Amino acid sequence: MADKRDYYEILGVAREADAKEIKKAYRKLALKHHPDRNPDDKEAESSFKEAAEAYEVLRDEQKRSTYDRFGHEGLRGAGFQGFGGSDEIFSAFGDMFADLFGFGAGGAGGGRGRGRGGRSGPRRGSDLRYDMPIDFVDAAHGTSEEINIARSEPCETCEGSGGKADTEPTACRTCGGRGEVVQSQGFLQIRTTCPRCRGAGRMFEEHCEDCAGRGANEVERKLTVNVPPGVDTGVQLRLVGEGEPGTRGGPPGNLHVVIHVRPHELFERHGDDIAARLEVSFPQAALGAEVEAPTMDGKAAVDVPAGTQTGDLLRLRGQGMPNLRTRNRGDQILQVFVKTPKKLNERERELLGELAALQGEKVKDGHPHGFKKFFSKLAGHDD
Ligand SMILES: [Zn+2]
Ligand SMILES: [Zn+2]
Repeated sequence: MADKRDYYEILGVAREADAKEIKKAYRKLALKHHPDRNPDDKEAESSFKEAAEAYEVLRDEQKRSTYDRFGHEGLRGAGFQGFGGSDEIFSAFGDMFADLFGFGAGGAGGGRGRGRGGRSGPRRGSDLRYDMPIDFVDAAHGTSEEINIARSEPCETCEGSGGKADTEPTACRTCGGRGEVVQSQGFLQIRTTCPRCRGAGRMFEEHCEDCAGRGANEVERKLTVNVPPGVDTGVQLRLVGEGEPGTRGGPPGNLHVVIHVRPHELFERHGDDIAARLEVSFPQAALGAEVEAPTMDGKAAVDVPAGTQTGDLLRLRGQGMPNLRTRNRGDQILQVFVKTPKKLNERERELLGELAALQGEKVKDGHPHGFKKFFSKLAGHDD
């Protein structure tokens, strides 16, 4: 209490400043040091209190003249004590704070009580959603993509109030400043929130030209989204604080990026494993072979054991999707399809015919020349 600063100095106004200038100066300071904008900031809190006390004195003609003549001492002699805490400030200047932070758009946020005008408390901004398609292989390896997000930002011209620059809000003409209107329906009288001022009671007569009175403008923002390896369709990445900005000093919402993995022509995901088809020829399946299979990292050699059947599963360990949490990779599972050759040259037909004959199987005569001869030879006559 010993070294109290001069009230005019605190508000940054001249000693002969009029009521309007004093109010304007206080508005600016209160907005700047408001606890909702400076959570857990002791310095801001004491500046906020100091400004409130200065305003409390200078807006009151009697207190102001006592202060002008006798200073802080004189006020103390007259019983003025200043404010104990922010809550007292809110209850003293409740209406003022409604003005400061624009008008109650309904749905109050985590207000600190009615002292600050109920509905007009700080509100967290809305969350935004962005649907992001990514390629299958990018989902496996992780990627980072730039996206454009349109969100509203508080209007700089009117500091979010929506009012024309250098004007003050006045009592709403529809409800006379009460914030509610009474409608008669038969015998009933129904009180409803004033539709014009939406319950605030006061409003700007002229709108800010830059935002048409909305207090906010749509702004396109570029953001980089880092997609971790292993994401699947439906996974949501949360970008904290990248949603809509809060109102009246509330924190911004979050941005939820919802992943949509595009289907791949070769791979199909099953949990952390991926399935793919592996085509082998009949001789490869029968005799066994080392073949190449496409993987998400390129190609891998696959050992096809002799006697492999269509439908058999071969496993490439650690070639699947990374697990989103553990980063351990699943397997790539290959389902074997034994290809039947469609175009055969003469020699190939002959060999296949011979094979069939060895196994005692009847086959159609796919061989234009040698096949009948082959069969009649088996039957013992030679023509
Ligand atoms: Zn109204
Ligand atoms: Zn504006």
